[in-house]
Amino acid sequence: MTRRRISIFGSTGSIGGNTVELLMHQGGAEAYDVVALTGASNIALLAEQARALRAGIAVTADPNRGAELAAALAGSGIASAAGQEALLEAAARPADWVMSAIVGSAGLAPGLCAARNGGMLALANKESLVCAGALLMDTCAAHGTTLLPVDSEHSAIFQALNGEDHGALERLLLTASGGPFRNKSRAEMAAMTPAQAVAHPNWDMGARISVDSATMFNKALEIIEAHVLFGVPPEKIEVVVHPQSIIHSMVGFADGSIMAQLGPADMRGAIGFALNHPARAALPVERLDFAALATLTFEAEDPVRFPALRLAREVLAAGGLSGAVLNAAKEAALDAFLAGRIGFLDMAALVEAALDSIGAEAASKRQGISLGDVMHYDRKAREFGNAWVAARRV
Ligand code: NDP
Ligand code: MG
Repeated sequence: MTRRRISIFGSTGSIGGNTVELLMHQGGAEAYDVVALTGASNIALLAEQARALRAGIAVTADPNRGAELAAALAGSGIASAAGQEALLEAAARPADWVMSAIVGSAGLAPGLCAARNGGMLALANKESLVCAGALLMDTCAAHGTTLLPVDSEHSAIFQALNGEDHGALERLLLTASGGPFRNKSRAEMAAMTPAQAVAHPNWDMGARISVDSATMFNKALEIIEAHVLFGVPPEKIEVVVHPQSIIHSMVGFADGSIMAQLGPADMRGAIGFALNHPARAALPVERLDFAALATLTFEAEDPVRFPALRLAREVLAAGGLSGAVLNAAKEAALDAFLAGRIGFLDMAALVEAALDSIGAEAASKRQGISLGDVMHYDRKAREFGNAWVAARRV
């Protein structure tokens, strides 16, 4: 049997590292032909992963770290490269299965390259669906590429829809843990620090998505992601707060029946599902013990304490490229919050101001959207965000 060709974009991150671990668990370099691994700042880990999986090439997105990466790989026979062009060249290399796990809209261009390959594209990078959903979906369709959701909620919905009558779909129920500030008042949230926002109660994730969980911008992105992936109208997408994160999401059908997918709060479940699809391989994750779990609880969403949810619905109603504005303004806000330049509640305020300022113009862009159009609004929203932060501090 020929070995499957695999590439991982963002292999040094939380999702990427879990993917590498699963590949090693399932036979590593003996079982897979690893084409490319990419990272950015963590050169030592990238080199270690490339050696362990005997990758064809390791690429750092940081153009200044090429020599360091080459030195770390000396004697291994593994090629290395640095910078954005090298990243795109690696993404264009034929592969049967690609993991897109770069964080932020930086993942869009490599994801689009991989979408032209005609294999399977496992998509953790939800930002690319939020800022350029139609472009990515159309590119996959045009090249016969199968898009497999890796976000746990969307993997759950994908699994719950398997073999079902899609015409009878009545609603999607996205579960949300509620994050570390689920029970906090607005006044309490105002004082929260980056360290407090990063400490997620259930999931062990990268720092950026952990803060997005605290603001519920993560769920906001996921509402848009669900709309794009499953073609379900916004009014049929509900959010249910479920603090235990055991039910990963649900689908409701016309007969009132609900299909749910359950599992431990461990991203290796969704990554492993995508890696082995359409088979199900044994995964090294905990098994649920229902007697120990005892209670699963549910609460309504609160778009007043968490304006991110309201903003996502406004973006879905506006359409066009307004998602690119929401996403990039959110990234600029997150940078400023992590740097201690703005407070926790300022993040949603910044995004709302960006949408008020450039959202309508971006929403009017609907036809013939290119990567250049998306990056135009991405840049505009970041510039707006940076100016907003600067004005705030005067
Ligand atoms: P991390 O921050 O842990 O990892 C991000 C990866 O992207 C790293 O490999 C990093 O390299 C690389 N990277 C960072 N900036 C750039 C850039 N400008 N260009 C190219 N590469 C870059 O993120 P996560 O693994 O948490 O998240 C990855 C994606 O998966 C995100 O889109 C997130 O929303 C999504 N996701 C994550 C979940 C999770 O549990 N973590 C759950 C569901 C979705 P380096 O570290 O070497 O600098
Ligand atoms: Mg998720």
